[in-house]
Amino acid sequence: MHYSAYHSVDVVNGEGTRCTLFVSGCEHACKGCYNQSTWRADSGHLYIQALEDQIIADLNDKRIKRRGLTLSGGDPLHPVNVETILQLVKRVRDECPDKDIWLWSGYQLNELSEAQHAVVALVDVLIDGKFEQEKADPALLWRGSSNQIVHRFTRE
Ligand code: SF4
Repeated sequence: MHYSAYHSVDVVNGEGTRCTLFVSGCEHACKGCYNQSTWRADSGHLYIQALEDQIIADLNDKRIKRRGLTLSGGDPLHPVNVETILQLVKRVRDECPDKDIWLWSGYQLNELSEAQHAVVALVDVLIDGKFEQEKADPALLWRGSSNQIVHRFTRE
């Protein structure tokens, strides 16, 4: 997997203070996309074990308390990213049990593959659907366009 950016302290991509990873790779090609440089799956930087370890350490950092991890892009559920993202969200669940996970994807919840569902089963909030320019509304919270849905899951 490749990623375009990692912010260890972020207050704009989800509720609270967060760690945010913008992955590379997106096949939705939404008109008006704000992040076209992330479309190519091999753009940006190679995601390595050291970064994953750093994300876990940042989430557990007591000096700056993070509420959770945000996964955006690009698309974290792009088929080339799913396996690595699943490994990451499993680690967060195991090693950072009090943190939440938010994930933005251009795929809709009802069209996900089994592998994509395995990731979504471990996140707290999914914002799904392509960005549709004609439905764009800057007043929307956490969404760029009104077709997108904020799904809040209750995990056991
Ligand atoms: S899903 Fe997001 S990153 Fe992908 S093309 Fe649409 S707006 Fe851009």
